[in-house]
Amino acid sequence: MPKQLAERVASLKPSATVEMTERVRAARASGRQIIPLSSGDPNIETDARIVAAAERAMRAGETHYGPAQGLPRLREAIVRREALRSGALYDPADIIVTPGGKFALLTALMGTVEAGDEVLVPEPGWVSYGPCVRLCGGVPVSLPMLDTIEEESLERLVSPRTKALIMNSPVNPTGRVFSMDEIARAVAFAERHDLWIVFDQVYSDLLHEGRFPAAQSVPDAQARVLVVDSLSKTFGMTGWRLGSLALPKGTAKAILKFIQHSIYCVPGFIQEAAIEALSLYDELVPGYRRMFRQRLELASRRLSAVDGIRCRPPEATFYLFPSIEADDVEVARRWLEEIDVATLPGSSFGPAGARHLRLSLTCPQADLEEALDRISRVGVAA
Ligand code: PMP
Ligand code: GLU
Repeated sequence: MPKQLAERVASLKPSATVEMTERVRAARASGRQIIPLSSGDPNIETDARIVAAAERAMRAGETHYGPAQGLPRLREAIVRREALRSGALYDPADIIVTPGGKFALLTALMGTVEAGDEVLVPEPGWVSYGPCVRLCGGVPVSLPMLDTIEEESLERLVSPRTKALIMNSPVNPTGRVFSMDEIARAVAFAERHDLWIVFDQVYSDLLHEGRFPAAQSVPDAQARVLVVDSLSKTFGMTGWRLGSLALPKGTAKAILKFIQHSIYCVPGFIQEAAIEALSLYDELVPGYRRMFRQRLELASRRLSAVDGIRCRPPEATFYLFPSIEADDVEVARRWLEEIDVATLPGSSFGPAGARHLRLSLTCPQADLEEALDRISRVGVAA
């Protein structure tokens, strides 16, 4: 092998969520019937009309390079959706279409983080935040926020090198939704220290109650907020890879150069499918949301009855993050080995997640009920 691989990949931690999904896939392929409560991939079949829109576009020749920023009609639909959800008003010129929310996050960080810059990263938090900061040459600094965003922690961890704050609401892995008050205080902190805010709202359509509090709807905040969004979770479209970034005025032109020089554009037929999906929002999404809420309530009830597990249904998402009176890595390992139920240890989302497990309620209902029966039988005690 010539020379060495770059440190940026050699030193990177693998994605715990992706690796577990691949482990489960391999075990199932070899005949082991593991029930996956591990991956945040909703078991929703993409609606036939969305698939048909992609097919139509392919047949009509949308198989070439397209505008790097994304189709204007899709960017307009994203702007309309954003106005309805958060009340924040954008110009389609400030939207960039990306292959999934993950690439929207990387694009946002590529656009704001210089080598050596520190970025405050929520903990417990999604496994890709720290690695994406590192890929941009930045230094992730863990910000504990199991229950709330503490102003004291923010002020203690900020330094002259801090460039940005990543916020995620609703939160993966806890399903928490930050209140407008918590968000406004975090925005005020960012203003005091002149930081960018990367606001990841990929679960905002899976809010089970009330209106969604968003950083970009705080007065005057839009100029420092980069909004990461995705169709993955909303429509069961994880494999389509369709996400977006809503940007502060005047920044899209420069950030777009990263898109031009990397992916160039998202395939046009995928974007046509996204336009169709957004047009079906009112028809499809309330039903998906109801299904997840019922699962969260059922699973919380069943798990709360198990000795050593404490659990309540979160305000959003399809994730449960019960606290357990045991070592989370050990319990996740035992459930996988002994009862064929795959979950993720809370500590995969950072040390602050220890003594919790993340359960993604995204498998068929009958499998979920079977998994809950098995968990109730073995519990968490060694
Ligand atoms: N943000 C969070 C918090 C997530 O959990 C995910 C899950 N994959 C993403 C962003 C990115 O999702 P996608 O790339 O599928 O849009
Ligand atoms: N975000 C999902 C999860 O946390 C999917 C996997 C990933 O992209 O990390 O399970």
